[in-house]
Amino acid sequence: ELYNKVLELKGNIRVFCRCRPLNGEEIAAGATMTIDFESTRDGELNVISNGALKKTFKLDAVFGPQAEQVDVFKDTGPFAMSVLDGYNVCIFAYGQTGTGKTFTMEGTEEARGVNFRILEELFNIIKERQNMYQFDVSVSVLEVYNEQIRDLLVTGTQPGAVAKRLEIRQVGEGIHHVPGLVEAHVNNMSEVWEVLQTGSNARAVGSTNINEHSSRSHCIHCVMVKGENLLNGECAKSKLWLVDLAGSERVAKTEVQGERLKETQNINRSLSALGDVISALATKSPHIPFRNSKLTHLLQDSLGGDSKTLMFVQISPNQNDLSETLCSLNFASRVR
Ligand code: ADP
Ligand code: MG
Repeated sequence: ELYNKVLELKGNIRVFCRCRPLNGEEIAAGATMTIDFESTRDGELNVISNGALKKTFKLDAVFGPQAEQVDVFKDTGPFAMSVLDGYNVCIFAYGQTGTGKTFTMEGTEEARGVNFRILEELFNIIKERQNMYQFDVSVSVLEVYNEQIRDLLVTGTQPGAVAKRLEIRQVGEGIHHVPGLVEAHVNNMSEVWEVLQTGSNARAVGSTNINEHSSRSHCIHCVMVKGENLLNGECAKSKLWLVDLAGSERVAKTEVQGERLKETQNINRSLSALGDVISALATKSPHIPFRNSKLTHLLQDSLGGDSKTLMFVQISPNQNDLSETLCSLNFASRVR
């Protein structure tokens, strides 16, 4: 209850910035920091270049290189409560490849990320409410690559070779659905872990370079929750989307051709469509351009209205990445 008040005060869109630490290679190469963490407080982030202040950005929270998964989750966990209260929630990780999008969302076995932790929080709250509510949770895992949807819970499919073409259909007022998408029913965290692993493994199948493939596609988890109030029989449905976006780095058009060019254009298109939709929602524009990409079309029911959106803008602390960092932070300012 307390959590949602906090969220309401801040509106329905929140933007967090997370900066990864310099890695061993960068330290060895004597990399210069481009973020001044000493002056960073209250969500204000100072970007510096050769010691001089370049630009200040305002965010809802900033997590520096020292922040651990648990620290980041402290401010993310409240969204689990929102989902069980019947709100739709979208959590995105946006940023240049290598800045920690997958680390934040998926994490590692030792340092689990938002996906696992928020489902764990969901099941904890379900347990607390079990005398009053009956909840039913299922999970879908999909990928959007080159504007095509692939079901990652269907084993044996390969990127590119789309075995079963999945399309988005409108099945009612404000209800969009992907017919045929597997919805895995989960009763506890060990079942959740299995589903997350299946999805993660399927992503690697058929790709010659998993890192490259994953940086060129959006990986999406959709958690569907149905709740029945046992006292009055009322039912509510809500969705939680967890999205590890394709890398936002700009690729010079002169450097790529053919398949790769199409890929790049599709990524640019869907990331800018996402920015357009969120900023149109933030400024309460009468027209929200959901149909401009598969991603925004898919998430249409869960963006806007009283849905809640959290965007992690992931950045690098390395001065060599300054121009990408400025692009990502400008994107953050646009959607906030
Ligand atoms: P992306 O998904 O944005 O391409 P990754 O999540 O794969 O980036 O991160 C790139 C590398 O940096 C990985 O080895 C990851 O473990 C590491 N990394 C990213 N963020 C952090 C962090 N906050 N703390 C420690 N290591 C991190
Ligand atoms: Mg990644």
